[in-house]
Order: sequence, then C-alpha cells, then structure tokens
Amino acid sequence: MYHLVCVNCEATYPADEILYNCKKCGHLLAVKYPLEEISVTRALWESRPLSVWRYRELLPVQVEPVTLQEGGTPLYHLQRLGEEMGLKHLYAKHEGMNPSGSFKDRGMTVGVSMALQLKKKSVACASTGNTSASLAIYAAKAGIPAVVLLPAGKVAVGKIAQALMHGAKVISIRGNFDRALEMVHDLCLSHGLYLLNSINPYRLEGQKTIGFEALDQLSEIPDRFVLPVGNAGNISAVYKGFLELQELDLMDRLPMMTGIQAEGSSPVVRAIREKLPEVIPEQHPETVATAIRIGAPVNAEKALTAIRMTGGLAESVTDAEILQMQRDLARKEGIGVEPASAASVAGVRKLVEQGMIERHERIVCVVTGHLLKDPDTVIKQCEPPTEINADLPSLLSALHL
Ligand SMILES: *Cc1c(COP(=O)(O)O)cnc(C)c1O
Ligand SMILES: [Zn+2]
Repeated sequence: MYHLVCVNCEATYPADEILYNCKKCGHLLAVKYPLEEISVTRALWESRPLSVWRYRELLPVQVEPVTLQEGGTPLYHLQRLGEEMGLKHLYAKHEGMNPSGSFKDRGMTVGVSMALQLKKKSVACASTGNTSASLAIYAAKAGIPAVVLLPAGKVAVGKIAQALMHGAKVISIRGNFDRALEMVHDLCLSHGLYLLNSINPYRLEGQKTIGFEALDQLSEIPDRFVLPVGNAGNISAVYKGFLELQELDLMDRLPMMTGIQAEGSSPVVRAIREKLPEVIPEQHPETVATAIRIGAPVNAEKALTAIRMTGGLAESVTDAEILQMQRDLARKEGIGVEPASAASVAGVRKLVEQGMIERHERIVCVVTGHLLKDPDTVIKQCEPPTEINADLPSLLSALHL
C-alpha cells in the first residue's frame, strides 16, 4: 500500500487522508509506493495497449477507473524541423491527441477515479482552460458535478466551449489564474469538494505516464525530455515517474529534464538561471500562450529538483518564437498544437542555436494541447480564405492559373 510523503520534511500521511499540503510544513506532497514489493516487467506492460492504464501497478487507483481511453498518443519523429536544426533525433509526443485535447486527461482519469475511491461527491479546479475542459469530461463520465474557476477574458474559446458543453459549473473571476487557484483551494477546504489542480498529488501520478509511454515508443532512453512549464506539474510528474523506473531497474539513467517558459511568465527559468533556492512569483504574467500564463507555479519546488538533479536546462521563449514554431509544426510536420505546446520545440531551437544542446542528442518534446483549443490565435496568424464568385474562371484566377 502506498502513502503520501512531504517533499520537504518527509512527514508521511495515509493514502486516504484528503490533503493537498503537508500539515507540518505546508510544502507539497507526493505519492510513495513500496517499490520493493511491486513486481513489474516490461513484458507485462507491453502485453497491454499503450495507455495510462498500461502502467497501473504504478498508479494509486484501486476502484474501477473512470476512463475515456486517454494516453496512447503518437510520438512523431520531426524529420524536417530536426534537419533544419541539425538534430537527427528530435521527437514530439502529441498530447493534443487525448480525449479532451490535452495531457490533462492523463491526470484527470486518475484524479477523478481517486475522487470516487475517496468517496468525494463533487470535484473542482482553477484553470487556464485545459484543466477545466478535462475535469468536465471526466466528471461527466463519472456522473458527478464539477466546478471550475477561470480567469475572465484569458481562456481560449475552445476550452471554455468544452467546459460548458460537458456540463461543468463555469465561473469566471475578475483576476488571474493564481488568484483563481487560491479561491478554489479555500472553497475545497471549507466545503469538501475534491481539488483537482496539480497540487493534488494523485493527479500527477497519471501525468507521469507521458514519460513511460515515450520510453516504450522510442525503445530507448532519450537524452533529454523537454516540456512547456506553467504550474510545473507535468515536468515534476514525468521526473518522478523516471525515478520510479530507475528504482525498479527498468531504466539505468535519467533524461535531462528541460523546462521551457514564455518570456513574460518565466519564474522557473529565472530561479534556475540565478540559482535561487526557490521561485520568486511574478505578479503580472503575460503571454499569448495562455496555458502557461502562470506567475506562481504551484509545483515549482518539485520542478527545480527535477531540472537540477538531471543536469537539465530551463529557457524562456518570446511570444513571436512560440507562434513561429506553432506555424512550423503545422506546416512542416503536419502537427497542430496550441501556442503553449509549441514552446517546448521553440525552446529546443533556441538552445541549439545557443550551443546548449548537442546535435547528437535524442530529444523528446512534449507538445501539450491541440491546435483547435485556441482557434482565435490561429486565425489571427493566417491569411483569411479567398472568397470568390461561384464560377470556374474566378477559381482559376484566384489560383493564378
Ligand atoms: C497545463 C498546460 C501546460 C502546463 O503544464 P504544467 O503542468 O502546469 O506545467 C502546458 N501546455 C498546455 C497546453 C497545458 O494545458
Ligand atoms: Zn512537510
């Protein structure tokens, strides 16, 4: 049986205690399994379909999972972009191919299953958009109510559409994401809703399977694993998963965990660059990549460990670099992602130019959410369709034929 452990003071708590922070010191919690008692083999995992639940021995869920068949996303070899950057082994794991169109589904299938296991009757989150869309679909599947808090005016339209259509109670607050999270945290503590932001240690358990799948798909350990960083839950989760595989002797070295933020919202990058012991929150984060528009990343403590312990890197990219990479992925590789997702690959391009990444490295970039999440940002970058009269000469003329 697993338990919860504080990442700071190592206090332990039973698995069924509903806690989001250490009661002794207030720091983050993580799920700890008795790995010496767990027997898994690659052959067992490979006998199951590629999905979050392939790895169920390393997940906390003991009830029938609430699943919409998440995970099993494609890992693409970026041949054309890789060649441009001089990288032979550049890959993208397209998490936009999950049921609600982002990697959040990996966390929510586990998180909402845990809500049922812990006998919770309702769930809630704050969100820059994707967490709310994902929570809405799993709450619908589980048949329980969901409350989501969004920063008014700062959520891409596709994500709001999903939260509304799947039946969540959607509240827009006149404040940013960081404030929405404080509010929903207070609400959950006072009224017993189950909080499913990435501060919830069980949600991160689902997300670590991105790393497991990438290893299985590559059949090799990548040298570097690159993720866009907002609340820094995902990079922390993938690192935790790799540590577990290492302890189980299923992996003999760790990829360099590399986090990319938007320049206007880059407290983790600053902490790494300036060797700070902890992140200094940014009061007014701003970026076109709304999914990573976060000034006070709740999992910063875990992410700094992940980057530092693996000799990884942290870098920021401008909005222009993010949008350029969104177009390049779309047009040169056929991969449609939302702006935040393009940050990981844009960061690789920048780090290669700076000589910080070596050209022989085997690199997996996580591209986190689907293009259709944020159609407004897409339309703004593209020429509008050419409208013509409905006759052949007009068509030929429009095509310059
Ligand atoms: C949530 C999200 C992120 C950021 O992930 P964190 O775990 O908060 O660092 C990045 N991209 C997309 C599309 C997201 O939805
Ligand atoms: Zn503690």
